[in-house]
Amino acid sequence: MDNTEKIIELKNDIDNANHIAFLTGAGVSTHSGIPDYRSKNGIYNGVKESPETILSENTLFNRPELFYNFVMNNMYFPNAKPNLIHEKIAQICNQKGDLITQNIDQLDKKAGNEHVVEFHGNLYNIYCTKCHQTLSYNEYADSYIHKNCGGIIRPGIVLYGEGINPENLSKSINIMQKSDLVIICGTSFVVYPFAQLLAYKKPTAKVWAINKTAINAPEINEIIADALDIFKKL
Ligand SMILES: [Zn+2]
Repeated sequence: MDNTEKIIELKNDIDNANHIAFLTGAGVSTHSGIPDYRSKNGIYNGVKESPETILSENTLFNRPELFYNFVMNNMYFPNAKPNLIHEKIAQICNQKGDLITQNIDQLDKKAGNEHVVEFHGNLYNIYCTKCHQTLSYNEYADSYIHKNCGGIIRPGIVLYGEGINPENLSKSINIMQKSDLVIICGTSFVVYPFAQLLAYKKPTAKVWAINKTAINAPEINEIIADALDIFKKL
């Protein structure tokens, strides 16, 4: 089956599904100018220390300037706008679906998606680790030290070594259990425990993956392509 035939079948599956679970990753946001840090031209290239080292609680507290400079220079794109993929997914989710995203850029919410689980948190949920006050992006952009209490400010994203928020995890499992169609998009699906979510799907649920590279998982209908090209045709 070529991609044209697959797109027709996927479109049919979307029309006929009762509830759809979307699982998305960086490949959705690259079209909004946000680099995919796991791809070849990703944001970690050229950085001497590994992302696992920099994006950890240890670096946040013991080398706060390194952590701060890294996230500010490489991860925040406050002017980024949602693209057609975010918008189409939002449209479908608001009607009959839920999105579980690995992306921390808030673009799905900006696209108006009311059914989003931010599996790895969100860069714009910024708070002080000492007094727990919520702060704005502009306050964080000024300094990583909270001027009221001297505490270190951090983004509400899941750092390496930290666990997934239990509420997000249970919501995600629930979404997988009630969906009869699963659409994976823009992720190589290698990050655990995100990739394990597939184990919670209904046995009868059909799974599609739209990604630039193949995902090595059984019983997945794959479209190997740029997601934007496919979503334009849906
Ligand atoms: Zn504080």
